Amino acid sequence: MALFVHKYGGTSMGSTERIRNVAKRVAKWARAGHQMVVVPSAMSGETNRLLGLAKELAPANPSPAYLRELDMLGSTGEQVSVGLLSIALQAEGVQAVSYAGWQVPIRTNNAYTKARIDSIDDRKVRADLDAGKVVIITGFQGVDEGGNITTLGRGGSDTSAVAVAAALKAAECLIYTDVDGVYTTDPRVVPEARRLRSVSFEEMLEMASLGSKVLQIRSVEFAGKYKVPMRVLSSFTPWDIPIGEEASSGTLITFEEDEQMEKAVVSGIAFNRDEAKVSILGVPDKPGIAYNILGAVAGANIEVDVIIQNISKDGRTDFSFTVHRNDYARTMDLLKSQVLPSLGTDQLEGDTRICKVSIVGIGMRSHVGVASKMFRSLAEEGINIQMISTSEIKTSVVIDEKYMELAVRALHRAFDLDAPPA
Ligand code: ADP
Ligand code: ASP
Ligand code: MG
Repeated sequence: MALFVHKYGGTSMGSTERIRNVAKRVAKWARAGHQMVVVPSAMSGETNRLLGLAKELAPANPSPAYLRELDMLGSTGEQVSVGLLSIALQAEGVQAVSYAGWQVPIRTNNAYTKARIDSIDDRKVRADLDAGKVVIITGFQGVDEGGNITTLGRGGSDTSAVAVAAALKAAECLIYTDVDGVYTTDPRVVPEARRLRSVSFEEMLEMASLGSKVLQIRSVEFAGKYKVPMRVLSSFTPWDIPIGEEASSGTLITFEEDEQMEKAVVSGIAFNRDEAKVSILGVPDKPGIAYNILGAVAGANIEVDVIIQNISKDGRTDFSFTVHRNDYARTMDLLKSQVLPSLGTDQLEGDTRICKVSIVGIGMRSHVGVASKMFRSLAEEGINIQMISTSEIKTSVVIDEKYMELAVRALHRAFDLDAPPA
């Protein structure tokens, strides 16, 4: 008998029939004697629908007053889900009670639409569990100090679940989704992608931060910080499969390199189309220039990712960097109005049709030639590399977005990820 947290994503909660299935699965675990906390997402498409309604009324704007209302609105999808799931569980003859984030409470800061969890009060939940109830808590939402509802960023129910699991010291946090685990790359893009039986926490962190949206990055950070055992698995298996079989399926996020782990040099390939490139040409090559440019960008709270500065010619150089596409227009305006005049150039170029493709693997630490193999396979496909960035366990390239799928497939093949596990 142990305490488990189950998280069910949007597709898993996508209809009353799917919710009934979730209820039957959870009831099976509860009847086996486990204490169960369930964290569901909104029904699939619901968060997009809600946020779309707001856009019909007013264009998005970054004022706290507007973002506060987006959270008030966007959080309601999860409230529908917990109510329905609780009703479905009760219909299965299981005692269940649902809570919104503020009722627990799950306390966050007040960064609307991307709030961070500060603390979770576990008293009410524990009392219910001890009384034999299944506790259902909204994903994605919390409450700030002023009592305002906040949300944790898109995909944030993963983080709610892991944070609840950490607070309750759960035996494991099981993330049920529409794929049966973490794959070498997005199986929707590369059908040959292969499920990993386990993946190290560090690799998962890189993959999530580089674009693999199977887990929200903050959920992985949380799991790492509080050492929460975490597994990604399918909610589309028959609900009545034996618990033992279910509990060992999917992909386990591991904190140690155990003998069973796949020993591939590259474990996975991540990609994203969320960034845009900005280039300033003819910048004077002298001390303080990078600070001049990036200091202004950071001052406007815009995050910069890949940076590249060319060698100088006649005392002038080109300086490029990437930002999130949502920040692109603001970055261009800022550079034009505040930075270019002091640099003595007016040559500013931008490109929103780029993507970043990354190879990830802890094996890269102990192997040389991995990056050059990546560059060779892209060259063989005639794909031009615009920018490169590396860390100990990843290499990323920025390329034209029209080559994204071609690049991901070529790299998947080149690093033998298509092959079945040894
Ligand atoms: P949920 O609604 O359950 O939270 P998400 O859509 O957020 O589900 O995440 C699951 C999706 O993540 C899959 O359908 C898959 O297309 C995508 N995905 C991206 N990269 C990977 C990967 N490396 N392994 C598995 N799934 C991935
Ligand atoms: N419903 C939220 C979203 O669509 C949170 C989640 O699904 O994890 O982003
Ligand atoms: Mg998700």
